[in-house]
Amino acid sequence: MPEKRDYYEVLGVERNASEADLKKAYRTLAKKYHPDVNPDNQEAEAKFKEVSEAYAVLSDPQKKQQYDRFGHAGMNGTGFEGFGGFGFGFEDIFDSFFGSPFGRSSRQKAGPRRGADLKYAMEITFNEAAFGVSKEFRVSRMQHCQVCSGSGAKPGTAPQTCKHCNGTGQVRQVQSTPFGQMVNARACEVCRGEGTLITDPCEECKGSGRVQKSSTLNIDIPAGIDDSQTISLRGEGEPGTKGGPAGDLYVTIRVKPHPIFTRDGFNIICEIPVTFTQAALGAEMDIPTLEGTIKYSIPEGTQTGTIFRLRNKGIKHLRSNSKGDQFVKVNVEVPTKLSSKQKELLRQFAEVSGDDVFVQRKNFFDKMKDIFQ
Ligand SMILES: [Zn+2]
Ligand SMILES: [Zn+2]
Repeated sequence: MPEKRDYYEVLGVERNASEADLKKAYRTLAKKYHPDVNPDNQEAEAKFKEVSEAYAVLSDPQKKQQYDRFGHAGMNGTGFEGFGGFGFGFEDIFDSFFGSPFGRSSRQKAGPRRGADLKYAMEITFNEAAFGVSKEFRVSRMQHCQVCSGSGAKPGTAPQTCKHCNGTGQVRQVQSTPFGQMVNARACEVCRGEGTLITDPCEECKGSGRVQKSSTLNIDIPAGIDDSQTISLRGEGEPGTKGGPAGDLYVTIRVKPHPIFTRDGFNIICEIPVTFTQAALGAEMDIPTLEGTIKYSIPEGTQTGTIFRLRNKGIKHLRSNSKGDQFVKVNVEVPTKLSSKQKELLRQFAEVSGDDVFVQRKNFFDKMKDIFQ
C-alpha cells in the first residue's frame, strides 16, 4: 500500500486552515472528483475517497485534534484506518453537504429486502435454566397477508403497471446542477419506486401485503443457559419484502432468582444456617441441592464461613455433559431470646470453658498482648 498522504496536503490547505477553508477546499475537490462526474475513472474515485476521508477527519474537532497530535498513527482503532472502516459511505458525506444532485435512487434499486429482526424477553425459573425447558410463547408480528398472498391486491385483481414511470419505478430528468448538466434519476413518486400500482387494494391488509398477527412459537431452552443469554430463532422475525428472507427473532432469557441458590457460572452457592451447638458438636444435616435434599455431615468444630464443596451438584455445562459444583457456606447462628434457664446453662458452660476451646480467640489476644505489651 502506498504511504498515506497528509490530510492537509490532500485538501491543499495550511495546517491552521479555518473550518470554512476546509469546507471550501473539500467542496471544490469533491466536485472535481465525484464518481458521477467521472464515470469509470478509478483514479478519480480513489481521489474522491481520499478527500472525503481527509475532510471527515479534519471537520471533526476531536478527530482533528488526534490527527494533529499523532498523524495517521493516531487514527488507529478509531475506525479511520482507511476508508473501509468508516461505517458510512463517502456518498453520505457528500449528500449531507450538497443534497443529492446525483440521484441516489439510481443506485438503490428497490430489490428484495430482508425482514426486520425482532426481540423478545422471556422469563424462566432458576430450575428451568438449570435443567432446560421447552416453552410455547406468543409473539405479535407482521406476517404476509394470507388473503392476497402478500401482493396487496384484492384477490382476482393484479397490480397495474405504473403509467407515470412505465413500470421502471424511476423517473429520469436532465437537471442543471453546479456540476453541469446531469441526468437525475429519482424514485417515481406515484408508485414510490415500485413500478406497479394497486388499484383494488386487498381489504384484509389495506394493500400493504402484511398484517399484524399473533402466533404461537416453540423454543427449546438448553440446560445451563444463564441470565441475559439470547437464543436466536432463524427466520422467525418479520417477513422480507419482494422475496427477501425473513428476519430473525432474538429471545433474551431472564432467569428469576432462586430463594436459596445463587449462581456463579456453572457453580451454585447456598448458605445454610447452623446452630452453634451443631457447629460445635458436628451434625448430620439435610442440604438442599437442585435435585432434592441430601444428607451431609458437618464435622465437629465447624467454624462460621466454612465452605463445603459438593462435586457435580451444580449446573450442566451448555455444550457438554459435565457439571459445575455446589458450594455450601456455613453460617453459625448465635442464639437469641434465651430463657433464664438457657442463660444459666451457658454461663456454666463459659465457666468451665477456658482458652483451650476458643483457639482463635486465644490467638487473637496473644497477638494483642505482643502489640501493646
Ligand atoms: Zn392482503
Ligand atoms: Zn411509477
